[in-house]
Amino acid sequence: MKRTFSSAAKTLVKKIQARQIFDSRGNPTVEVDLVTDLGLFRAALPSGASTGVHEALELRDKDKANYHGKSVFKAIKNVALIAPEVIKSQLCVTQQCQIDEIMVNLDGTENKSKLGANAILGVSLAVAKAGAATKKVSLFKHLADLAGNKDIILPVPAFNVINGGSHAGNKLAMQEFMILPTGAKSFTEAMKMGSEVYHHLKNVIKAQFGLDATAVGDEGGFAPNIQNNEDALNLIIEAIKKAGYEGKIDIGMDIAASEFYKDGQYDLDFKNPKSDKSKWISGEKLLEMYKGFIKKFPVVSIEDPFDQDDWTSWSAITSSTDIQIVGDDLTVTNPKRIQTAVEKKACNCLLLKVNQIGSVTESIKAHLLAKSNGWGTMVSHRSGETEDTFIADLVVGLSTGQIKTGAPCRSERLAKYNQILRIEEELGTKAKYAGRNFKFPHK
Ligand SMILES: [Mg+2]
Repeated sequence: MKRTFSSAAKTLVKKIQARQIFDSRGNPTVEVDLVTDLGLFRAALPSGASTGVHEALELRDKDKANYHGKSVFKAIKNVALIAPEVIKSQLCVTQQCQIDEIMVNLDGTENKSKLGANAILGVSLAVAKAGAATKKVSLFKHLADLAGNKDIILPVPAFNVINGGSHAGNKLAMQEFMILPTGAKSFTEAMKMGSEVYHHLKNVIKAQFGLDATAVGDEGGFAPNIQNNEDALNLIIEAIKKAGYEGKIDIGMDIAASEFYKDGQYDLDFKNPKSDKSKWISGEKLLEMYKGFIKKFPVVSIEDPFDQDDWTSWSAITSSTDIQIVGDDLTVTNPKRIQTAVEKKACNCLLLKVNQIGSVTESIKAHLLAKSNGWGTMVSHRSGETEDTFIADLVVGLSTGQIKTGAPCRSERLAKYNQILRIEEELGTKAKYAGRNFKFPHK
């Protein structure tokens, strides 16, 4: 059966339905089905641990007797409120901006607290997938069109291979130690490097700490029981050397320093309830530690090096180093926070999490705002993920040059990397890998 489709014809939304499913941590999350004449388009939402005042609200039922208070039936009911408005609008599913605007207006709050960012984003992601199908193009291409991007570039993957911080049971204060195969020639080669180093790292950790130290955390990284942050960097360097990729793989870190900021100081032993206060260090001292890392190791990117309100230290590191400084807890994908960070010259890269802002259109705008201010953008997963691969298409569509979506381990993490492999295959000889230009791939 051949479907006739003229440029004037619209593909309308016929039905939108949501359900509760479970994420990679076994917590409830929202899944949305959207139906058009072309079929069914499905989106599942990620979930982070944080619910900061500056980020869009993830609506949960807070009914302690069920699902530990984490069920999302209210958000699902709100999708049922959104559905008739979107259907009634008679907008084509390619009109992403207008459909997102209807939902944002229907919510009417600054942080999407009425309907929930999980309700709005679920519909928004499904609309984008339906829009791509209407144009008979891949999702990344449709997103590139929406963002006005004509030069498609594949990202450098930032594999989170050692975990510490609040999400690991070890003593390590700093949250993520990542490897970035910037010296690869293609995304396929970057995956090869990442996977090989990951398995070497497993053996290095096993030899030093025993097999039980090789269990993996929420994002697939290892969490050996070390306390000295420099030791984690040394383990990674050893694995890179064993794999034969010295000089081809750089290191990124996510410190998540807000987690261990106490009384104006930083406690690198914060997981110890009896930590020695005399050993807590100032922002200046912590900056010296980072400078030591940068000198000794190929550290090219540090995320959240300081507390989200310690602006002085943020500006100090950005002005006194030439590496990438990423704002996550600092900026929470919020345009107002990004603007303040720009004014204070606090960082030079945005961590883009779609569920922190709550719609496709606003995610694109946040990236463009960062870009117009000379910042880079790193697209990010959340600690609670699903098999949905939307962010893989997003990072290629926006061509931001970098994505972090966990270790090369655990299928909800690999689902994204695997999708980028498929996109690279589709692009064929036109595929370009960001490599060393991962901060500013279009320069
Ligand atoms: Mg972070």
